[in-house]
Amino acid sequence: MSTIETPAVNKAIGKVRPHQTQNERLVFEKSSPGKKAYKLAPLDVPEVDPEALLGDAVRKDPPGLPELSEIEIIRHFTRLSTWNYAIDLGMYPLGSCTMKYNPRVNEWVSRIRGLAEAHPYRPDSLAQGILNIIDLLQKCLIEITGMDTITLQPAAGAHGEFTGILLVRAWHESQGNARKKIIIPDSAHGTNPATAAICGYQVENLKSNAEGGIDLEALTAQVDEETAALMLTNPSTIGVFEEQIHKIADILHDKGALLYMDGANMNALVGKVRPGDFGVDVMHLNLHKTFSTPHGGGGPGSGPVACKKFLEPFLPTPVLVQDENGMKTWNYDRPQSVGRVRAFYGNTGMFIRALAYILANGPDGLRQTTEDAVLNANYIRKKLEDVYELPYKTPSMHEVVFSDKKQVAKGVKTGDIAKRLIDYGFHPYTVSFPLIVPGALMIEPTESESLEELDLFIDAMRSIAKEVEETPELVKSAPHSTRISRLDEVKAARKPVLRWKPE
Ligand SMILES: *Cc1c(COP(=O)(O)O)cnc(C)c1O
Repeated sequence: MSTIETPAVNKAIGKVRPHQTQNERLVFEKSSPGKKAYKLAPLDVPEVDPEALLGDAVRKDPPGLPELSEIEIIRHFTRLSTWNYAIDLGMYPLGSCTMKYNPRVNEWVSRIRGLAEAHPYRPDSLAQGILNIIDLLQKCLIEITGMDTITLQPAAGAHGEFTGILLVRAWHESQGNARKKIIIPDSAHGTNPATAAICGYQVENLKSNAEGGIDLEALTAQVDEETAALMLTNPSTIGVFEEQIHKIADILHDKGALLYMDGANMNALVGKVRPGDFGVDVMHLNLHKTFSTPHGGGGPGSGPVACKKFLEPFLPTPVLVQDENGMKTWNYDRPQSVGRVRAFYGNTGMFIRALAYILANGPDGLRQTTEDAVLNANYIRKKLEDVYELPYKTPSMHEVVFSDKKQVAKGVKTGDIAKRLIDYGFHPYTVSFPLIVPGALMIEPTESESLEELDLFIDAMRSIAKEVEETPELVKSAPHSTRISRLDEVKAARKPVLRWKPE
């Protein structure tokens, strides 16, 4: 359990500091006139009249910023940081999100001055270091995915999907017909149908079979000359590998349609199999999942798109090329390109971190990572399958999905169990997703966790299952150890208070 002091914990252990609430006031409420956390050097240039310089643009009234001393600010932000949960505090089993450890060596490399301060407007001739890093990362990712070419521009997984489907569309258009629809299995991540719709396609739902995979007969019946592509997550969102993937690719290709793979779950495949080898035409990766760059508030993200040779002319502009002297440069002369999807090169800091991770692990290390991620998920599955319902018995890959079926009999739902997990010092798993499992508990431990941490998590989950039997109210009213217990989620979504305003 966490030792963080919060009013609720202090109340529970009978230790209430009278000034605590006072200390926890917002910075704005603590403000008092004249306090400063800075001291400016005396003016050593001629004083000018701001209005002569800026005219009407000069502000007449002060902006209403809080006035505080340095220690008040330090305490405020340090306190806020202790109210949050992070992978650096403990296991973060948020299924589908691959909340793995962000190795410190990545941070060290990305902070090397020549890289951290590389300006995007530097001429290519003076940016060879960073361009070579981009080139090497591209080569590594092409090797890992088995594809022919790649763009690193997209800033997130969903942005990668958007870019990938733009490529699909541009290719079909070049063949004379953009086609009308994209088929998406009912187990898909919500971003897939959103992507298809925003690229101007009709979304057609495909029902999963009893094992949670693609029903080949249903797919064959559904694919026609108006199908642009199938968007498939592999392993699927229930953590199951699509064993018929090459047949799925054949069914699509027979009708001139393409296979898009949502590669956000590549943590289960790296070093084992390559999507390019099993018929995938275009896919995205999440560097902020599989390749250990920070996310969940620590971003920014990065969602490279890898594709087969025939889609290369449509890649976002510019594309990195090498001239006859071995110099790397950006090529903007690409008449068939879908255009730019991101400023400059993309989120360069993430490229450096991902490459550091790939090189530090090496091929054997990456394969071991995949094996450990799968082993950890299956260890949890084995240790919990007698207390939580396992709706799909198909072998699990990097994550395991239970349902709350047994607990619902006592009036306790997946969301209640997740809230109770917070009291045990863990971040909740993914709640109620994927939608094909009613009351889902989606658990992805990643390779980062030790046997000891996994056992603590399993103990917590088993202990909660026992509480559901004996004292369900305790679970239904959790969490009991946080500053705020349960939010009014509807109000938070409909009437969010996003900023403080002076009275
Ligand atoms: C995380 C995820 C995405 C979206 O990635 P973002 O970077 O959050 O946009 C898409 N598909 C799957 C399966 C995911 O797990």
